[in-house]
Amino acid sequence: MRNVQFKNKTAMNPYLDSNKFAQQTVLTIYAHADDEVLPAAGTLSLMSKTGWNVRCLILTDGSLSSSAIKGTRHQEAEAAGKIIGATYEFYALEECNFSTQTVIKVAEEAIKRWQPNLIITHAPQSEKYGHRDHEVCAIAISNVATRKNIPLWYSAPPVFLRGFEPNFFVDITPVIEEKIAAIGCYESEMSKAFMQLDAILVLSRFWARELGQKDGYFEAFEIARQWVDASFFAAMANSNKQVLIQE
Ligand SMILES: [Zn+2]
Repeated sequence: MRNVQFKNKTAMNPYLDSNKFAQQTVLTIYAHADDEVLPAAGTLSLMSKTGWNVRCLILTDGSLSSSAIKGTRHQEAEAAGKIIGATYEFYALEECNFSTQTVIKVAEEAIKRWQPNLIITHAPQSEKYGHRDHEVCAIAISNVATRKNIPLWYSAPPVFLRGFEPNFFVDITPVIEEKIAAIGCYESEMSKAFMQLDAILVLSRFWARELGQKDGYFEAFEIARQWVDASFFAAMANSNKQVLIQE
């Protein structure tokens, strides 16, 4: 009887144990508001439900955007954050004009404040395929994550997937409605082709096919820096031992 109880406890996948993540923080750093929901709203929503603190840092405030007046994007982001369980912080860097050094400084301050266990940012893509701001952000954050020794994921670009090599996929089927609703909060951006509902669903289904899944919606990430600590192997060893005892 005692063994059965112990087995149930130790056999649990440590990455599904919500208590393990109770105090963990994921920090997303993106150039523009809406960059975070397109590739990662489903994953962030799942993380917040599992007890992660989800912090979204946006480098620019949209004041140079073709579609939004300053302030609109703050409200839209906060509305999206309520749906996916994230809190936002905006910086007012000038779009298409901020430097790698500035982003490094901003990121280092944010890391000091929030002590993130994981950072998610743009995938590095040359300007030929991506937005200049995304590239600068990706380079700067990769630099900081390496120096600070923090796990880092790159999220999928909305278009032009060249240079992005996903190696981690999250099944977001249970929260696809939330992802759609979060993206829908960015009304000022709805004229963009990749913000259309069909485009979002097609990309989510594309990743499912990439995995050989016939059904479901997925988000794709490239793990740039990751590790498991020694307790992971200890838990696995204990789990195996208990299974043997049980048999
Ligand atoms: Zn952007």
